[in-house]
Amino acid sequence: MASDQRTTTRRRFGQAAVVVGVLAAGRALVLAGGGAPEAGVPPRARPRPPEPHAVPAGPPPGGGPAGAAHDPQSYRLRPMAGETSRSGPGASPPHPEVAFHLSTDRREVFLTFDDGPHPFHTPDVLRILRRHHVRATFFVIGENAIEFPGLLCDIADEGHAVANHTWTHPQLTTLPPGAVRSELGRTSSLIEDILGTAPDLARAPYGEWDDPALSICNELGMSPVGWAIDSQDWTVPGAGTIAHTVLSEMHPGAIVLSHDGGGDRRQTVEALDWYLPRLLDEGYRPIRIAP
Ligand SMILES: [Zn+2]
Repeated sequence: MASDQRTTTRRRFGQAAVVVGVLAAGRALVLAGGGAPEAGVPPRARPRPPEPHAVPAGPPPGGGPAGAAHDPQSYRLRPMAGETSRSGPGASPPHPEVAFHLSTDRREVFLTFDDGPHPFHTPDVLRILRRHHVRATFFVIGENAIEFPGLLCDIADEGHAVANHTWTHPQLTTLPPGAVRSELGRTSSLIEDILGTAPDLARAPYGEWDDPALSICNELGMSPVGWAIDSQDWTVPGAGTIAHTVLSEMHPGAIVLSHDGGGDRRQTVEALDWYLPRLLDEGYRPIRIAP
């Protein structure tokens, strides 16, 4: 899978001008449930989410992040999926602008992994995240998710966010609206079939959004997400270089782009194993993205 790198310059231009603070970090509600089902068996009877109006809808008095009283790494649930899923009680509209950073007054950061799930690299990433008790966001490709549904369950069961990265990883800006809707909608439907909850975040392949694609993303109930730091792991520059890139560019609220699929990601895994404890030592707190 080609990497998302080629539009980094454009994205950096965007991120310099746009700091989108509309997504809040860390929300509430824990998904109860048993262990991960066997790989290849999509569980269709996962526990239904709690009542949506139980989700904190905004910042609590005092200005802290919404849901701060709850486990900030827990899995935030949405009540439904599909194109009308945002109309229910407690549902909040998706954000129209691409988020490159997230507003935070803490040293919270947002690790993201694209192009999976992958049968070897995704479990390796999960193992490292688990060891350090941190959460991340996985932008999965539909045609990989349908092949490895058990990995999607593993990601969600460990408290990470599962998000939409299209079905076949096309450049959305080259597609007619119907194809964009199919790429995103089919992937959301699959994720809901597997997890019982549709995704509320999406990332365009290569970070390539245009207005029609953003509109469709919103219509499908998802907020678009970009990145502030490209680990450049796709260039396979060596684990040390990847780790150095992440550590040297890190700042509060940063969204970090890495890949757990789309190629040989052993360097990504090795780099994560090296930089994650150092981030923690520096007081950073990696958490999942929640809209
Ligand atoms: Zn990608």
